[in-house]
Amino acid sequence: MKTEYPEINPTERILMGPGPSDVSARVLAALAKPTLGHLDPEYLAVMDDTRSMLQYVFRTTNELTLAMPGTGSAGMEACVANLVEPGDEVVIGVCGYFGARMAEMAERHGATIHRVDVPWGEIIDPAAIGKALADHPATKVVGVVQAETSTGAHQPLEEISRLAHGAGALLLVDAVTSLGCVELRLDDWAIDACYSCTQKGLSSPPGLAPVSFSPAAAEKIWSRKSVIRSWYLDLSLVSKYWSSERVYHHTASSNLGYALYEGLRMVVEEGLEARHARHLYHHRALRAGLEAMGLEYIPDHSLPNLNAIHVAAGADDLVVRKRLLSEYGIEIGAGLGPFAGKAWRIGIMGSSCTQRNVILVLGALESILGDMGVPVPKGAAIAAASEVFASN
Ligand SMILES: *Cc1c(COP(=O)(O)O)cnc(C)c1O
Repeated sequence: MKTEYPEINPTERILMGPGPSDVSARVLAALAKPTLGHLDPEYLAVMDDTRSMLQYVFRTTNELTLAMPGTGSAGMEACVANLVEPGDEVVIGVCGYFGARMAEMAERHGATIHRVDVPWGEIIDPAAIGKALADHPATKVVGVVQAETSTGAHQPLEEISRLAHGAGALLLVDAVTSLGCVELRLDDWAIDACYSCTQKGLSSPPGLAPVSFSPAAAEKIWSRKSVIRSWYLDLSLVSKYWSSERVYHHTASSNLGYALYEGLRMVVEEGLEARHARHLYHHRALRAGLEAMGLEYIPDHSLPNLNAIHVAAGADDLVVRKRLLSEYGIEIGAGLGPFAGKAWRIGIMGSSCTQRNVILVLGALESILGDMGVPVPKGAAIAAASEVFASN
């Protein structure tokens, strides 16, 4: 065993992948404030205000709104494990990696799954969900991903919500990459259960999972016939810690709580509309630049905050990403599953969504691709992006 270990001294990166996104100095400073006990009255006040700000970002009045311990996947599992009882029929739309993960989780929790699969990169046609519901009229829950991070596709939700409720089912939505970046309205769109994370649109470190449940979803959870198999994610226990009862369930990380709180405070200060507009505007500039270099988007319906493009013909995927990281400090995402080696995923989320980052990633890509002999028109990307920025 070594007897001396170096101090941790991480390089400051520019995080432009599918998450985590850049964490601002404000949020990092909040993270480093004194640790409080999970039942300290000062921390309980932070929790109450966190809930209130989560209700704002989720656009909901749902009482059952809180932050589960764990990352986005813990939020996914909390929703699935609490909502689904063994034997329940569940329809899940799968157009990428994360829809498939939701289906696998629901299966593990005993659901009978009816998958609605579409090719990666496409969005799900509501009519296909409608058909699945007609074929399986006992369906209790419909699950879809609003922002399919593996493909960059942006799934519209309102029509699927109408169909799910028309069939007497509840709607479960994955908003892990969408919350804080694109429009999401739990109450107006009648979304019954929704989960997200802290490290993408909210630009806090990973570790908590905001979740929210409508009164109808809460009713289904409270009237379960079977005990939920996960003790840690059991909302009947966790909610007693978040309610006025304040019953100990687990030792909540006050420091992660401060970081989420500060990230949410930044969303409230900016305002959701302005924040969505910022993501859209930077996306237009980034897209203009990428396309000016001849790079092509994968999905027809692209998210603004996660830009999935085909790896440039003639470029070495791994070398490009390694050089972006080592020479420019920029992290972008690789392709997952069938897109491995074939896709680049460029995130502009929360604190990462800046003019500096857009211009920097375009310039760095142009330089690296040029070195590799990929024919890219010199200066075209920055010129196209600058034109969008100048027009604002
Ligand atoms: C990132 C992501 C997840 C998983 O979140 P983790 O924080 O990595 O556990 C789930 N769904 C979607 C759409 C994601 O982008």
